[in-house]
Amino acid sequence: MFMPEGRVNVAHAPDMQQVPSPPRRLATLPPPHPEKLDRGSDGHYYNRLMPELPDLAILADAFDAALVGRRVIGAEAPGPLTVRGTPAEMAALVGQRLDRFYRRGKFLWLEFERDRIAINAMLTGRLQLAPNPGAKRPARTLFVLRFGPLEGASSHIGADWTRGAVWIPAIEDTPEMRYRDPTQMGKVYLLPSGIERAVPGAGPGDLGPDADDPELSPEVWRQRIRRHTGELKNLLRNQEFVAGIGNAYSDEILHAARLLPSRKRGTLAPEEVDELYAVTRSTLAHAITVLRDRVPPRFENEVRDFLAVHYKGGEPCPHCGQRITQTEAGGFVTSYCRHCQH
Ligand SMILES: [Zn+2]
Repeated sequence: MFMPEGRVNVAHAPDMQQVPSPPRRLATLPPPHPEKLDRGSDGHYYNRLMPELPDLAILADAFDAALVGRRVIGAEAPGPLTVRGTPAEMAALVGQRLDRFYRRGKFLWLEFERDRIAINAMLTGRLQLAPNPGAKRPARTLFVLRFGPLEGASSHIGADWTRGAVWIPAIEDTPEMRYRDPTQMGKVYLLPSGIERAVPGAGPGDLGPDADDPELSPEVWRQRIRRHTGELKNLLRNQEFVAGIGNAYSDEILHAARLLPSRKRGTLAPEEVDELYAVTRSTLAHAITVLRDRVPPRFENEVRDFLAVHYKGGEPCPHCGQRITQTEAGGFVTSYCRHCQH
């Protein structure tokens, strides 16, 4: 048996407003606001690491290319609180072929022949692609899916940028998808066919179009933005407006658009609304291009050092050379340039 009975929680629909208690080893850190965690015992600043659209787009493409067409040969949940589902539901994944691995908003979705899985990585959840089960498991690995050899008939073609990549497992390999999460805030939702289980934050009314969705045209953007009058940083982070942008990339987009995070949407001229659309698209596209080169094969590492302003308070602005301002108002870090953003 690949999984001890009783190691997986019976499903409940958790309320997204309820922030889980921090694990004991982080108890000496500041209050556990999801975006205000400070330096963890492993030396990382957790609040700068929350995965967003560009990070998750890389993961989705890579895991799709590496794992689609393979059947699950084992499932394990060393972190029982992370998995929403029953041991029987997890066991039932074995034998099913993975047909699709994709991103929607800040969620990753795995579609098998019959069942589905949704992953909400929250703050610190990360996926590792292990070429074989013998590869060393990172600490705090909480969920593992082991895949069999690629089936001969599989004709799956992954994203262009993944073709021929050295990190794609060989046909006969038995790779593992490992989910690790030092703060244990993320969740893995097992969604068996025929079972209703809410995925908080991913429901029909929770997510607007993805910020990089080809169908999000300038016209659709103009229509959607009219409903919002508040501050631009909050607007960009609002998943109901457009999905996938969080604390880091909202700062990057507003810096590129030369708009202050606190600027009210209602004060934007029509051409500024259009400019914000164009810059949102180009900023995310640029980040994805950079991350395709920088992230693989260590998909568990987040790369943020190329950002222009986010979390770079005190450093020179790449546009004007003046010092970047950084605040923690509202419980999250905001970085911007007072000189070139208005
Ligand atoms: Zn500047």
